[in-house]
Amino acid sequence: MPETMMTTAEEMNSYQIALRQLENVAGILKLDAGTHAILQHPKRELTVHFPVKMDNGETQVFTGYRVQHNTSRGPAKGGLRFHPETDIDEVRALAMWMTWKCAIVNIPFGGAKGGVVCDPSKLSLGELEHLTRRYTSEISLLIGPDSDIPAPDVGTNGQVMAWLMDTYSMHAGHTVPAVVTGKPVSIGGSEGRIDATGLGVVMVTQQAARAQGRKLEGARVVVQGFGNVGGAAARIFHSRGAKVVAVSDYLGGVYNPDGLPIPELVAYSKANGSVAGFPGSEPVTNSEILELPCDILVPAALQNQITSSNAGKIRARMVVEGANGPTTPDADDILRERGITLIPDVLANAGGVTVSYFEWVQDIQSFFWSESQVNHRLGRVMTRAYEEVSAAAQTHNVDLRTAAYVVGVARVAEAAKMRGIYP
Ligand code: GLU
Repeated sequence: MPETMMTTAEEMNSYQIALRQLENVAGILKLDAGTHAILQHPKRELTVHFPVKMDNGETQVFTGYRVQHNTSRGPAKGGLRFHPETDIDEVRALAMWMTWKCAIVNIPFGGAKGGVVCDPSKLSLGELEHLTRRYTSEISLLIGPDSDIPAPDVGTNGQVMAWLMDTYSMHAGHTVPAVVTGKPVSIGGSEGRIDATGLGVVMVTQQAARAQGRKLEGARVVVQGFGNVGGAAARIFHSRGAKVVAVSDYLGGVYNPDGLPIPELVAYSKANGSVAGFPGSEPVTNSEILELPCDILVPAALQNQITSSNAGKIRARMVVEGANGPTTPDADDILRERGITLIPDVLANAGGVTVSYFEWVQDIQSFFWSESQVNHRLGRVMTRAYEEVSAAAQTHNVDLRTAAYVVGVARVAEAAKMRGIYP
């Protein structure tokens, strides 16, 4: 299955890109062929096709996936994506990225991901609930607080996690909060989880800026995506004195070179369902937004946004990947040659899964922390991860993505070797 040799980088799908990235560090780490082959393959994949009774009385069959890439370091962990274009290769890639991400921030989880091919914006609340509950039931073979713990991702949120937790708990006959993270606080979620990914993005950006002798205050920030990650990141950048000059969501974007009033924009987007049309701003498309002049560009939407066709036109000093896989390998090379610092997804957006870990720990102990305790611990984890990755970049004289992979893949390979091969 793993085959990256026949296609050019731009034609590669997410899984082939993930394999290429792994290949890039296999040499540096001198991975033996056996370990490399183990890490190339997902450990388990489940595809399910399941019916949902729609509001109009018709039955529609949906396809969903749950992929566990690796569990050498602990239970499988990773989000659940509801998106019309998701497919098995995307879910495989996202699962593999979760393995490295958990290892980079050094939390005791392996990597997994789930997906359902659907457009949640076209489903009623009732249909979304029925779809979520039936999907949960179909993948209940795999999930559990000790085996595989889902969380929100593109197209899912705290409500979806609540239905997932409730469905699993109904089957078990008792409440099992630790089966899923990113739940509402009222049912065992963690303080700080909603903003954790965005906060982590800002924390590592601040650290990288400091390392370059720059400040966040006054820096011009562009954020593509205004959802779970981008929305929080824009808010936190703004509250820390950065000038957020452009943001977008799937319906369009807004630009004001003097800076956008983010709290008002958040209220506008809630009321209107999009940031598009915000008074006092110029409209920009989701591709134009990437080419605006700025200090910090945060792609926080979907994968494959920065490619060989626009990487030469990026006018940012630093790219911080809020989304998973927004930059193709060809674009990576172009940005590096142009001296643009890139903080890779597996480090930049790891704040989300880190607070998911805190949520799981709190659920298991039934002992909950304050938001300031959560954020303080998140800061410690992100700071150490950033330091370890930038030290690896210096030691091996490589960019931050390669360095992050060196740190993450080495930890997973070490765990796999230590455990040995059964039987
Ligand atoms: N979906 C998020 C990610 O890609 C969070 C995963 C989690 O919290 O388990 O990192």
